[in-house]
Amino acid sequence: MEKSPFWHSQTDQEVLQACDTSMQGLTLDEAAKRLAQYGPNRLPQAPQKSALMRFLLQFHNILIYVLLAAGAVTAFLGHFVDTMVILAVVVANAIIGYIQEGKAQSALEAIKQMLSPHAAVIRAGQRHTIDGEAVVVGDIVLLEAGDKVPADMRLLKVHGLQIQEALLTGESLPVDKQTAPVEADAGLGDQLCMAFSGTTVTAGTAQGVVIATGEATQIGRISGLLASVESLTTPLVEQMDVFAKYLTFFILGVSALVLGYELYATTTPFDELFMAIVGLAVAAIPEGLPAVLTITLAIGVQAMARRNAIVRRLPAIETIGAVSVICTDKTGTLTRNEMMVTTLVLDGGVATVTGQGYEPIGDVTQGDVRMESTHPVLQRIARVCALCNDAQLRNHDGDYSVEGDPMEGALMAFALKVQSDLDAINSEYVRTDAIPFDAKYQYMATLNHTHDGNAYIFVKGAIERLLPLCKQSMNAQGESIACDHAWWESQAHAIAREGKRVLAVAYKSIATSHTILTHDDLKEELVLLGLVALIDPPRAEAVEAVAQCHAAGIAVKMITGDHALTAASIGKQIGLKQCENVLIGTQIDALNDTQLAQAVMESDVFARTTPEHKLRLVMALQSHEMIVAMTGDGVNDAPALKRADAGIAMGQKGSEAAKEAAQLVLADDNFASIVAAVSEGRTIYANIKKVISWTLPTSTGEAAVIMLALLLGMMLPVTPVQILWINMITAVTLGIALAFEPADAHTMRRHPRKRNEPILSGVLLWQVLFTGALFVVTVFGLYNWAIQNTESIEYARTMAMNTLIFLEMVYLFYVRNMSHGTFNPRMLLGTKPIWIAVGIVTVAQAIVTYVPWVQTVFATQALSLIDVALIGATGAALFVIVELEKIVRMRLWGR
Ligand code: ADP
Ligand code: MG
Repeated sequence: MEKSPFWHSQTDQEVLQACDTSMQGLTLDEAAKRLAQYGPNRLPQAPQKSALMRFLLQFHNILIYVLLAAGAVTAFLGHFVDTMVILAVVVANAIIGYIQEGKAQSALEAIKQMLSPHAAVIRAGQRHTIDGEAVVVGDIVLLEAGDKVPADMRLLKVHGLQIQEALLTGESLPVDKQTAPVEADAGLGDQLCMAFSGTTVTAGTAQGVVIATGEATQIGRISGLLASVESLTTPLVEQMDVFAKYLTFFILGVSALVLGYELYATTTPFDELFMAIVGLAVAAIPEGLPAVLTITLAIGVQAMARRNAIVRRLPAIETIGAVSVICTDKTGTLTRNEMMVTTLVLDGGVATVTGQGYEPIGDVTQGDVRMESTHPVLQRIARVCALCNDAQLRNHDGDYSVEGDPMEGALMAFALKVQSDLDAINSEYVRTDAIPFDAKYQYMATLNHTHDGNAYIFVKGAIERLLPLCKQSMNAQGESIACDHAWWESQAHAIAREGKRVLAVAYKSIATSHTILTHDDLKEELVLLGLVALIDPPRAEAVEAVAQCHAAGIAVKMITGDHALTAASIGKQIGLKQCENVLIGTQIDALNDTQLAQAVMESDVFARTTPEHKLRLVMALQSHEMIVAMTGDGVNDAPALKRADAGIAMGQKGSEAAKEAAQLVLADDNFASIVAAVSEGRTIYANIKKVISWTLPTSTGEAAVIMLALLLGMMLPVTPVQILWINMITAVTLGIALAFEPADAHTMRRHPRKRNEPILSGVLLWQVLFTGALFVVTVFGLYNWAIQNTESIEYARTMAMNTLIFLEMVYLFYVRNMSHGTFNPRMLLGTKPIWIAVGIVTVAQAIVTYVPWVQTVFATQALSLIDVALIGATGAALFVIVELEKIVRMRLWGR
């Protein structure tokens, strides 16, 4: 392969030759060889932060700085045990953070992998869909609207191709491409016969030969590195981060004030006081919060991915849980997209097509009579279905699948049932031009020339579009007669009412001199051949998913390009609500925004819509303060996907442009996966709330205990070293368990939360105060009791420390069921992560309390069994109190 920087100035034959390939593409072996030799088609990744760097960054945190300073001060004062404990805690905390962050990062990485783009290529004369990274120089690539160009290529055939190249040239308007060579010194923007890696096809189709991949592409030369690692955060978590930061400064300020006051007003020695204040600060600052929230998100993202919903933009995790209306496509999302032609309507009447799936075996019968393949109309319909078609059927040992559009696959199967030798037809009728299917026009047309000097236009598409263009139809003898529009329409309606898709098939003869096909060519004298009806059964799981949405207070609206009656029928089958009032595209056009805002609430089925309608529908729904999820697959869906609160693209049939505009990608194109994502989104939000609702009250409780002792001039009921341990090790371990909370049974029975519902709510503030007070009373109570009983301050502190931790455990179980269900036995059954966390903390506490050398470090003493039981009883009492509080609060406050 000879390298030339001037591909754009050479003829296509020269380029094909230089790349050692042909229009049939490379052989599979040659492609594999080139891939091995030249490497995958990808841009070099920006280097990851090293493990050491990531570990060191764990120390980059205000609280850690404070602790390190405290460590220095204690060392200076000669309290080496304290210094060691502080350092140990800081390191342990960094290790926990490092592991958590690693887990979160790998979750993100795994998800990125799932979004890798694909490319359609011709290899060994066959169309294949391959990984974008497997494209090699010499591959013949097929482009269509919505694709991202996978590599730099020289265009060989174009049909109305337009490409948006802003990425490279800064020009935001799409450029019309062509195949003729241009001047050797043309700039990138003027190389009209080239398509460059990373740019987006906005219209048309093309074939091109790859001339450069990976780093050798123009984009590879410019950007060099594929940068931007997305950080794991959402608006809410960011808000909490900011809140935690302010809180930290506030607590440090208060701590300094208390220190000043104590130094001034009491005679407590500085070193004792200093450690107490450090303890106070550590207790009050919810330093574990940001890390635990990040982990909660990461686990949520993974859970969504497991259910086939891949998050592209992390902030979407929050919105998706709050959606109040889902606008969804029909074909492939609510239906299975496994189509089959079942019925034909010809001038002479209705015919039935038998068979199974895409297998090209079956008969066409009229009444009980088998129709011969020589039937003049049947033969022509089959020919149009085969020729005006871009799909290929694949036979894997009798198992048929489609490469391309499933509907076209079904038409191909039908054509084969009539006419087994399609190759003969293909070589007889050579395609010279085509108008690819576009949701805006709702038809596809091809221009074909025969060797014996005839030319034809073949068209298939929506009946509303094609019927008006047909002045004539063909009768059973193969003669053109005047087209009875009313009759054909009534036939189409009868079929559509059964939920079948209807396609009109038409053709016309044209002068052979005609070689360029335009929409205007269809305007005159098409001859209608007949209607083809396809079944596309609803997905069984969609019925269940729609019901779940309704139970969860989420409206479901179907927005389809299909026929109104087909849409209404499928809508009814899957349980949509207002199916009678179908609103069709032309009606939407007639409404102004205010009228549409009203109409949109009164209908759940929108038919014969174009992508522009989607955008208007999103805005109409948003005018009711609804949070809108919208699905899409085509390049023209991008504006609606961007505008929606949660844009959802189809992973399989969706274009790259749609995926890029979306926040969520469905790996299986299935409506049920959207609902799963909503459920997961709600769970993530609930878990974030749980983490916050557990962390703030418990750290307030800890801090209040110390603060009160300081202000009252008492001995501290827990030592600074102990509080460090409680807060930075046990609390972090317990809190993380909440990140793994599964969806509870009520998740999809609640109404969606309001836009901008604050998380730092009145309820939470009340819980902080109430729980804080309970902690203070309980800890002081047991501490004082132990002092009176044993007269040992160490013993009493051990008691207080264990009480605090046990209360936190108890509160964990309470928080799991914060908003519903009281005293039901099931809520005491924790999840595995909860029991693991509780188990770890219990063992750790046993060690701290009972192992002699650890006792010296933490200044603890072994507790008697009775006292352990007493702590248990107190914890149980706390549980009863907070649960009672919940009943009363729900009654009085309703939250
Ligand atoms: P949907 O919302 O069901 O995905 P589309 O936008 O894909 O609808 O299709 C709208 C209409 O356009 C279909 O009902 C059909 O009449 C027509 N149509 C769809 N695909 C093709 C195609 N490949 N060729 C011709 N016409 C098509
Ligand atoms: Mg479609």
